[in-house]
This record gives sequence, structure tokens and C-alpha cells, in this order.
Amino acid sequence: MNAEGYLIQCSEDISFPEDNTIIQQTADCSTTFEGLKQNSTYFIRVCTYRILNGQKVCSDWYQTIKAPLKTIEVIDGITYVDGIMIANKTYALPANYGDGLTDETYQAYTAMVSAAYYQGIYLWMESGFRSYDTQAYTYQSFVDDRGQELADLCSARPGHSEHQTGMAIDVNTTSDAFAYTDEAVWLAAHCAEYGFIIRYPYGKEEITGYKYEPWHVRYVGIDKAAAITASGLTLEEYYGITSVYAN
Ligand SMILES: [Zn+2]
Repeated sequence: MNAEGYLIQCSEDISFPEDNTIIQQTADCSTTFEGLKQNSTYFIRVCTYRILNGQKVCSDWYQTIKAPLKTIEVIDGITYVDGIMIANKTYALPANYGDGLTDETYQAYTAMVSAAYYQGIYLWMESGFRSYDTQAYTYQSFVDDRGQELADLCSARPGHSEHQTGMAIDVNTTSDAFAYTDEAVWLAAHCAEYGFIIRYPYGKEEITGYKYEPWHVRYVGIDKAAAITASGLTLEEYYGITSVYAN
């Protein structure tokens, strides 16, 4: 953007009323809003401005972003954001957690597979729940084969795998070629209708910590899946959390 500076507005009201909007003027398009309330939803929008003949001339507002501020809760060593159990590179699960897919996840998966079948799309479960011990073994095999750096890009360290939540499923095949199948296209277009999100989207490696995995879906419930998918954001971006190993 060719601009003198940016105006960034933040409000709990999408109409950005003057008396309930924080405005910041910045030289680059980045800022921090302080003193916001947890468990509230804020709307943020940006425009650019230039000074012409001593007057500030503003562009139209760019797309408004919805930013839910959610408290991160830790219960029995398990991290939740907005009620969603988190297992990523920042947040690990206890070694003894989990004993299979959750009932909700399995039922949603079954409904999705049936719906797909009637549209000529064949989905099957390549991998569902994975225990801490199984993941420890899987991860170590990757490390032995490819070294730790490459292993960390495609396999989770034990405790950090989303498969241990019992709410993640790898569909059909964990091969990059899956991305070009009708099944992958259908899954991306319809999984949210059943409460799943494509958890590691294309181009978001730096944010999720994982390469694109068109086969890996995560159950978050229908309402949240719809909201997250519509936002075009990853789970990390949507809730403002990180996915980075501490070491
Ligand atoms: Zn997976």
C-alpha cells in the first residue's frame, strides 16, 4: 500500500461508533490494542491516509476483521481456548490423556462419510486417535529417518499431536497427491458442515507449524467450524495463539 500512514480502528461494535471505538494512527500497518476485555469480540479495520494540501485524505476501509478475544484455560493440564482443546507445538496434552475418538467426532465423521458417499466421494479413515506412546514411536521413526528438523515439520512430538485429542482424523491418505483428488476438494468444501476444519491449510506453515495437510481434519463443532472456515484463518490465527516448540 502506498501510504503516508494507517488508521486502525478497534471496536466491539461493527458499526464503529465514535464513542466506542479506539483509533490508532501508525506509520506501518501494525499495532497493539491494550486494555481489551477477555471473552469479548472486537472488530478491527484499517485504512490508509495521505496528507494532500494539508488535509488528511483517507482510503476506503479495508476488510473488517472479527477478533474474538478468548481466555486460555488450563484444566487438568489440558489447554482450552473458547472450549476447544488445543494440541499444537505450544500446547501439549498430558501423556495419559485420551483413549479413542470422542463420540461427537466419530458421529460427525460418520455423517460426513455418508453424505460424501451419496455424492460419489469415497472417504475413509487413514488414522484417527493416536496415543502418546504411539506418537512417541511415530515421531522417533521420523527423527531416525530424516533428522529432527524435518521430523518437526511433518510429525508432532509426543503430547503435541492433535490426534491425541481424539478429535482429529487423517482422511484417505497422508500423501501430498491427495490435494489434487476430488475427495480433497469435497472435504475442503464440506467438512465444516459436519463440524470439521482443515487444520493445516496451504501457505500457513509458519503459523500452524505444519506443512499443508489436506487430509487432516479437526472436529470443533458445527458453529465454530463454520465461523473459523468463513474467516479464512487457521485455528491459531482465529484465537490469537501460537504453535511453536519451546525448545
Ligand atoms: Zn493428522
